Amino acid sequence: MTTRPYETKTKIVATLGPACWDEGVLTQLMVAGVDVCRINCSHADHASIRRQVARVRRVAATLDRPVAILLDLQGPKVRTGPADVPTQLRTGDVLTVVMDATLQASGLRIGTTYPQMADDVVVGTDVLFADGLLSGVVTAIRKDLRPAEVDVRMTEGGALGSHKGINLPSIALSIPALTEKDCDDLAVGLEAGVDYVALSFVQRAADVLLLKQEMARLGCVVPVIAKIEKPTAVANIDEICDVSEGVMVARGDLGVEVSLEKVPVYQKRIIRAAFLRHRIVITATQMLDSMERNPRPTRAETTDVANAILDGTDAVMLSGETSIGLYPVAAVQVMDTIAREVESSPFLAETRADAFPEKDHTGLGTILRAACYAARAGNRPLVIFNWTGSSAIYVSKARNNVPIFALTSDRDVVNRLQLVWGVTPLLIKPAYTLDDLFLVAEEALLNTGQVEIGEEVVMVIGNARFPRARNVMTIHTMGASD
Ligand code: PGA
Ligand code: MN
Repeated sequence: MTTRPYETKTKIVATLGPACWDEGVLTQLMVAGVDVCRINCSHADHASIRRQVARVRRVAATLDRPVAILLDLQGPKVRTGPADVPTQLRTGDVLTVVMDATLQASGLRIGTTYPQMADDVVVGTDVLFADGLLSGVVTAIRKDLRPAEVDVRMTEGGALGSHKGINLPSIALSIPALTEKDCDDLAVGLEAGVDYVALSFVQRAADVLLLKQEMARLGCVVPVIAKIEKPTAVANIDEICDVSEGVMVARGDLGVEVSLEKVPVYQKRIIRAAFLRHRIVITATQMLDSMERNPRPTRAETTDVANAILDGTDAVMLSGETSIGLYPVAAVQVMDTIAREVESSPFLAETRADAFPEKDHTGLGTILRAACYAARAGNRPLVIFNWTGSSAIYVSKARNNVPIFALTSDRDVVNRLQLVWGVTPLLIKPAYTLDDLFLVAEEALLNTGQVEIGEEVVMVIGNARFPRARNVMTIHTMGASD
């Protein structure tokens, strides 16, 4: 194992794409601080999913650095059909949307991937295209035709290209939460060994449970990140958090589905809800958008990244910046430096103090809070032995300014913990006695180069499989056989 330099506590998610297919670039991204790689199923076929997983695993192994892979399922995302050239729409034009996913756009006719659209909309329903750049209102519905058609009078014109997003914020979609494509992508991703699965356009807890059922059917259940990008999901955020391991503030589609000025407050609501239930949060989309084209970010962008961290996000995410941008490595470096600034400021701890889950009086909850106190008060690193990773997530929420080492002999848990704020996961050899456990722990800690002989650390053994060592906290001096 190699000594690891100080890494930011805030985790960085990078979306994979042509800009980082090259393994040299991917290596630079990870060296710059990427902890999680996201595979966007909207733009990946099965061969590409397999190739991306293999590539990440190869580079991570070469660097001896754990990296989590997040498979992001498209969900019931509605799109236009193919178009050789963009359809030029003026305000006032009537665009005919045809319930045919393969129809080539021509004149003022385009296809859609949403076969039930004609059944779900009514005259007067708002329709947004291309991430909200274009908009219109339904003026006529022809269900008797095969395929059915919907007329939309444009209230804001523009150019409408191939496979662009269509949003219908005011109606509940009758498309299943998990499409056939999602099930196929899921099977391929799980087989390839992804660490997390994200589901787009979640509307309610039942949508997440459907995904979990499908994973159980496939015989491989991994943690789920519910993407919050519909107003109904914000309204149902508590029940969604209850059944998910994490959520994503998916500001791209959320900002199309609700008015833009609502996004900042919704972001705080979503992060707070996740925080109180010990769930992981990713804040996503357009964080450093201008860096797709420019080597430097704007002031508004650096401020946005910093504020998301201060709101309590575990991870900040790059989309186009790393997948198709001109400066993928620079974008990661910028996020890394912003995170360093925020983490060395006093504001992080202040904003978190009121949200730490104080009410958990179970044995483990009490011990973990005591450990956080002992770590903070004595400026001692926290060392948590993990079987599932949930104890590490719990102590992460205290936003203490001490290192948190999460020790486990399960490589999958190591990878998953790469998404959790402030946690440095370490793989340890399996230990069969308490003495063994301390020995392998010391070895792993010393190997990081961040803990020294003679230094005190706070160790927590939660639901350990050792006699008389359940819910134990101890202040251990490195190198002392106590
Ligand atoms: P997407 O999700 O990039 O898959 O659309 C994120 C978002 O909508 O913000
Ligand atoms: Mn989205």
